[in-house]
Amino acid sequence: MSVLSNIRAKLQNGERLGFDDGVALFHEPDLLALGQLANELREARHGDRTFFNKNMRVEVTNVCVASCLFCSFAKLEAHMPDAHTMSLEEAWKELSDRMDDPPSEIHVVNGLHPGLPFEYYEELLRGYKRIKPDVHLKCYTAVEIHFFAQLYKMSVREVLERLRAAGLDSLPGGGAEIFDPEVRKKISDDKATADEYLDVHRIAHSMGMKTNTTMLFGHIETYEHRVDHILRVRTLQDETGGFQAFIPLAFHPDGNGMKNLPAPTAVDDLRTFAVSRILLDNVPHIKAFWVSSGPDVAQIALRFGCDDIDGTIVHETIYHSAGSGVPQGLTYEHLVRLIQEAGRVPVERDTFYNVVKEFPKASVGEAAFKVRDRKAKKHLAVVEPVRSLGGKEIAG
Ligand code: SF4
Repeated sequence: MSVLSNIRAKLQNGERLGFDDGVALFHEPDLLALGQLANELREARHGDRTFFNKNMRVEVTNVCVASCLFCSFAKLEAHMPDAHTMSLEEAWKELSDRMDDPPSEIHVVNGLHPGLPFEYYEELLRGYKRIKPDVHLKCYTAVEIHFFAQLYKMSVREVLERLRAAGLDSLPGGGAEIFDPEVRKKISDDKATADEYLDVHRIAHSMGMKTNTTMLFGHIETYEHRVDHILRVRTLQDETGGFQAFIPLAFHPDGNGMKNLPAPTAVDDLRTFAVSRILLDNVPHIKAFWVSSGPDVAQIALRFGCDDIDGTIVHETIYHSAGSGVPQGLTYEHLVRLIQEAGRVPVERDTFYNVVKEFPKASVGEAAFKVRDRKAKKHLAVVEPVRSLGGKEIAG
């Protein structure tokens, strides 16, 4: 029996996969067969539905006391060239400028700034809620929360309570990197440990908050480290049930302490998405973050276990500091198109995966956005797409 057949049989018998199964999956040479298994599990949960949202990223400061080897975003000191910290007014303007087509979610991730008062972070949230009371605030990674607890001499629970009182709704997943202590020591020694990261999530879940979690892959870690990481997520999820999505993040090498390493290939991305879906039997969503993998690979990932492609984002700087050549944001229409052309059903969601709007599955995605001059055999124009998706006027 092949490794994959053996694993498929285990799943059919309701057996839980273990560490060795995970490593074997990473070594499976037949990528398409691996993807097929992940796809079956994805379709069993979500059918063709593929989630995205209207979100906006804000990074209010890149000043950071930590020196993660993979990070091209942080500046150690506030006076360094390219270091920046937004005033609250500047940060709020990011939202108020977009109120004609506002995001449903704001995702804030920052460096670990040693000199800002805690009230800055509270007031940031209050200000966003003043501008748009129903906006969902998914802000501050577990690493930031842990740093706040140390810097401002509070418990993690106190930090979360104060931020929640100011408007915090959920936590993003950043900062997980790789949980294995030896790898973590080499790539990000001076911030929350794996246990501290997971403990922040545990406490947040115990307070009724939902969170996401991530894994940075494709640098110095091995397949064993990836499996170990995924299984630690699974273990905490057994305990709390508070993770909504797992997001494998591809390492980008430009301008950081590991610039001599190549970035992971598309095949490695797809393999990692697929294995994550197969191993994580208790996390509802596997997200292909299009900024990290690129929109093209994220689109293919929708057949390799992923059911979420993230959102419009608008203005991302962390991956772009590391050389990402993808756009800083994608339009709503572009996301719908990516999903439809993958043969899936686009579903705009809120942060808790409630359906905001569901689109039809397009039968001929290529024709959906273009008017073609058949005689001249060329596309004439990109038409206004979303309102007409699946409708007669988009047939070309
Ligand atoms: S990854 Fe985060 S904690 Fe590490 S140096 Fe960059 S901003 Fe700081």
